[in-house]
Amino acid sequence: MKNQQTLILIKPDGLKKSLTGNVLTRLSETKLDIIATKTVQVTSKLAEEHYKYLKDKPFYKELIKYLMGEFHKKKVMALVYWGPDAINKVRNICGATNPEEADSVSIRGAYGRITTKGVYENVIHASTNEEEAEREIKLWFKPDEIIFDVYPTKTATVKKKERVWA
Ligand code: UDP
Ligand code: MG
Repeated sequence: MKNQQTLILIKPDGLKKSLTGNVLTRLSETKLDIIATKTVQVTSKLAEEHYKYLKDKPFYKELIKYLMGEFHKKKVMALVYWGPDAINKVRNICGATNPEEADSVSIRGAYGRITTKGVYENVIHASTNEEEAEREIKLWFKPDEIIFDVYPTKTATVKKKERVWA
């Protein structure tokens, strides 16, 4: 089976409900390698870019607020998992997008809910295919934040102001 990398996000509802441990334990069933992890405060720019393909959906605005943590905690845990058939292995444990339709032992089936505004608070995001994984991993991580180069890199001179320790 082909080695793949896939982006996982534990969404703000997962963090607020203290589900991080449960989610990571479920994902460890895959025996995949974690090759990157960080906790992020999601800006509107990042949330909108992540979900840009859903821009025309009626739930888009609420979805952006959800990912930014406006209903829970303003943080998301982002991870890259790597190994054989990683994308499908992770998606199977996540379960269907709609938590009411998801298998009840899947992460979304066990922990997700639908809000009265119609947003699926489904605890976890996972890439659906290799193209999506590439776009998403490059959006959430810089090359040096990942244990090895999952995509080709180059060295560029980036001139920008940066916050440093005082
Ligand atoms: N979503 C929603 N209502 C819908 C479809 C999607 O609230 O009818 C949310 C849900 O949180 C989902 C996210 O939008 O995880 C992204 O949707 P997508 O169709 O990409 O599903 P996923 O790949 O997350 O299973
Ligand atoms: Mg998707």
